[in-house]
Amino acid sequence: MKKITIVGTGYVGLVTGVGLSEFGNKVICADIDKDKILQLKSGIIPIYEPGLEEIIKRNVKSKRLYFSDNISLSIQKSEVIIIAVGTPQTRTGDANMDYVDAVIKAVKQNLNDYKIICTKSTVPIGTGRRIIETLSNDFEEGFDFDYVSNPEFLREGSAVKDFLWPDRIVIGTCSDKAYEIMCDIYRPLFINKNPIKYTSVETAEMIKYASNSFLALKISYINEIANLCESVGADIHDVASAMGQDGRISDKFLHPGPGFGGSCFPKDLESLIAISKEKNVVMETLSAAKKANENQKAKMGTKLENLIDSSVKDKNIALLGLSFKANTDDVRESSSIDMIEFILDKGGTVRAYDPIANASMSKLFENISYFDDVYKAIEGADALVIMTEWNEFRSLDLARIKHIMKRAFILDTRNIVNMSELSNLGFVYDNVGRIKI
Ligand code: NAD
Repeated sequence: MKKITIVGTGYVGLVTGVGLSEFGNKVICADIDKDKILQLKSGIIPIYEPGLEEIIKRNVKSKRLYFSDNISLSIQKSEVIIIAVGTPQTRTGDANMDYVDAVIKAVKQNLNDYKIICTKSTVPIGTGRRIIETLSNDFEEGFDFDYVSNPEFLREGSAVKDFLWPDRIVIGTCSDKAYEIMCDIYRPLFINKNPIKYTSVETAEMIKYASNSFLALKISYINEIANLCESVGADIHDVASAMGQDGRISDKFLHPGPGFGGSCFPKDLESLIAISKEKNVVMETLSAAKKANENQKAKMGTKLENLIDSSVKDKNIALLGLSFKANTDDVRESSSIDMIEFILDKGGTVRAYDPIANASMSKLFENISYFDDVYKAIEGADALVIMTEWNEFRSLDLARIKHIMKRAFILDTRNIVNMSELSNLGFVYDNVGRIKI
């Protein structure tokens, strides 16, 4: 059992803190956002993740999980400091390192004993080396501190499960002692022989970027194949499922849709492009994946206008799904944002519904209508657009919808609605890459 402080209690920090306390460690989740810490202390969970609330409550009760807005004291009290602050994209595409740098400054001021300084935030390759150099100006590496890169691979929407049963854990460090301590904090997984990969710091940093960029590339690829399917009369579902049966390809991330979003893929892809440019290494695939994604997002607006065979000007569009994927309230870089902007720019109105992300989206768009009932959002609409693959949209009462809509147009950007049912009910519909029935 180790004493651990997580600095940054967002999606990653909170899930990491909870997961490591579940593994038996004593964890402080620290954050400069006082309101967030206050909420957590009073049992309010600031993000939506399946299973998170229950596991937080259990570990708080067992006195293994604490919350604090006192970063200095939290650092002083722990042997392992895990950095999980945001690294958002700057205008030039690089990762913004201000938050990480602020944490390193706090670490320097509070390094009162040997500590492992571990970065879980996704950071450009070379960051670890830079942190070691900064700390080495005042402290001795190996004696006062050791550095570890431990990138995170959890997916929002299944973050708790991903953290507790990971495919792999990457521990990048040049210290055997630090490696042993890190194995210790993940001990229950280590016993179950979950694959822990021991690498250099730079390799660990690269693994994270290479993984996310590859998945982004895979999504862009299948989206472009889906677009071509539409023109040649092929069906993307059959194509993708047959492709996925090939073990060399795998069926994961072969689902066409409205373009990828979220807080990771777009920014990590952008950041790797920036790194490759800085190092003068040509990486055409990355730029292609990015461009294809921008095209895909824009294409959804065109699809909508083609479907209704007119401009969306003065049309009421019901938009189902605001989060960038199902099972999260995170709307960062969500394709829904592009769709809302498209409709508003063209002079249409948006009637939005999401099971949990209405509040997050209302911070970005105050000028659209939000509904807490899916059928109320659809009532009187000229067209309906499904943007997120929430399960509840798979079992919509289409007959009722046909009855309450002004006109019967459905754009299903996630291919989740049954096409024969749509046809039988007389809907005019479109989706991504399917042979229409
Ligand atoms: P987030 O924006 O949800 O949370 C970041 C938190 O850090 C916020 O609560 C903020 O208040 C806090 N913070 C900022 N500066 C601080 C400081 N100086 N001291 C203490 N707290 C501070 O971010 P996130 O989505 O959890 O992502 C964190 C990192 O993990 C990013 O680098 C991201 O790329 C990476 N990552 C994210 C995911 C994901 O699915 N969200 C998955 C893997 C990796």
